[in-house]
Amino acid sequence: MERQIPLFEEPAPDPRPPETVTWNLWHGCTKVSPGCAHCYMFRRDEGVGRDPRVVSKTQAFDLPVRILRAGEFRGRYRIPAGSHFYTCFSSDFFHADADGWRPAAWDMIRERADCSFFMITKRPERIGDHLPPDWGEGWAHVTVAVTCENQAMAEKRLPVYLALPLKHRAVMIEPMLSAVDLRSNGIARIESVSVGGESGPDARPCDFAWVLDVREQCAENGVAFSYHQTGARLVKDGREYRIPRAKQHEQARRANLDLGGTDRLGEIPGE
Ligand code: SF4
Repeated sequence: MERQIPLFEEPAPDPRPPETVTWNLWHGCTKVSPGCAHCYMFRRDEGVGRDPRVVSKTQAFDLPVRILRAGEFRGRYRIPAGSHFYTCFSSDFFHADADGWRPAAWDMIRERADCSFFMITKRPERIGDHLPPDWGEGWAHVTVAVTCENQAMAEKRLPVYLALPLKHRAVMIEPMLSAVDLRSNGIARIESVSVGGESGPDARPCDFAWVLDVREQCAENGVAFSYHQTGARLVKDGREYRIPRAKQHEQARRANLDLGGTDRLGEIPGE
């Protein structure tokens, strides 16, 4: 009798724990709206004499598909299965100057369907024309979030954003510059909302009442909510508090406002 041997062995499951990874695949950006006014990426680049408006591919471009060449896990991806990539935190994934590199980025994201990817844009009007050809109704392992820093941007960006084929929708209200009404802007179709104040020497104030109002809107609609950070100038009950940078995330966490299972992000460009 002919002996049956499997032609291709199933690879053994990856025993390494998943990681949370920041993947800045290109760097540099141009300002598009009030939330960009004090972008920390601009601050940092200008501080070292670099032009932040020049968009360039980084050394980390191929990070998700890098293979280990030595050691116990030789031949496996350097980033373990199940890892979570926070993508493009020193640029905008949909910036026009990155159009030439984005198809290769989508190829890597498609290849690593064993991980999840999260990206934030202030350019939702560019998403539809710059999705991969096999995107369909969206990829389950990708969340594209949109920033709406004030009511005007919510009204401008959310109708465009909500019309897109996306499996996961998230809204960032950071830096929060005004009260934001999401009820009339399709809140029930959003999975999670994150709010936060502005940091840095020129920070604009964020009123705690605006934060509570968005939380209330999320609670009413079963949407996950995260209070990411207070910002440098927090107004509470009519009084303004100056919060040092080192305490801004901690103070927001202590407010204990989070609802549902949103991830807590690190530093994001406009905050
Ligand atoms: S806040 Fe975001 S979109 Fe605006 S300039 Fe900075 S990186 Fe670009």
